[in-house]
Amino acid sequence: MTTAEPLRDLIITSVMDRAGKNGGFVTRADLSFVSLPTGGSRRVIDAARGIWNPRDMEATLSVVSSPSGPYADREVEGGLFHYSYREGSINGDNAKLRRAFELGVPIILLRKVRDGVYVPYAPVYVVDDLVGQREFLLALDESVRFLGSGNLNAPERRYAERVVRQRLHQAEFRGRVIAAYQTRCAVCRLRHGELLDAAHIIADRDEAGLPAVSNGLALCKIHHAAFDMNMLGISPDYVVRIDQKLLEEVDGPMLRHGLQEMHGSVLTVPQRRQDRPDKARLEQRFAEFVQRVS
Ligand SMILES: [Zn+2]
Repeated sequence: MTTAEPLRDLIITSVMDRAGKNGGFVTRADLSFVSLPTGGSRRVIDAARGIWNPRDMEATLSVVSSPSGPYADREVEGGLFHYSYREGSINGDNAKLRRAFELGVPIILLRKVRDGVYVPYAPVYVVDDLVGQREFLLALDESVRFLGSGNLNAPERRYAERVVRQRLHQAEFRGRVIAAYQTRCAVCRLRHGELLDAAHIIADRDEAGLPAVSNGLALCKIHHAAFDMNMLGISPDYVVRIDQKLLEEVDGPMLRHGLQEMHGSVLTVPQRRQDRPDKARLEQRFAEFVQRVS
């Protein structure tokens, strides 16, 4: 990422750092005061509109997109993200987004995953301005930036679409799950977003579907790996179980505190009922754990 605007780069880096610390998302409050390493803070989201055009910047800094259902194919057609003009004139707020295209400067795409919670993508580039369709085409990363919509043959386009859709799917699932658990491991309550994953209770093969938070668990890296290997199980009534052989082993503090002492503890679940782990899925998954133990 190189632009003639060091401030823009600094803001983008600060937003992505914040998201890393939170576990893959930023809140509206975070975006209202993004602290910069050089001191001070900047607003990175408009109070009401989808396009944020800071007065002292020549081009748009961020745009909001609010997916309301399964990803529309149109959104990632050709591996590029289709972003609709703001209503009304083709100029207005759209003019500075067009300027980002002309200048080739990076912007931040904020995907709203729940009220006041966004998964940020940056640097994102505006790679085309389709005035007739009233939309901009955004490249979600450098690798697709120079693949203009017309430059790909059909298999390449399908591949780019799959890659981009998968990337959105994974990042947004992680953001939604970790936000629901308030950046905390469900097993040990570790609060470092950088060390947290969104684990699937049941493997999710439907890439295109909107993944449900109730099929996810926010877990730290070690508990995620232990859960995936069925060394750690979670009963449908949210009690943590550790594999019997592991319980009998003698080793250092990670085994003792990190795993053995979690046996019998109760899972920390999200406040919202609809976000809590789905009991039927847990039951199905717990059967695999029990089978491994016996
Ligand atoms: Zn943990």
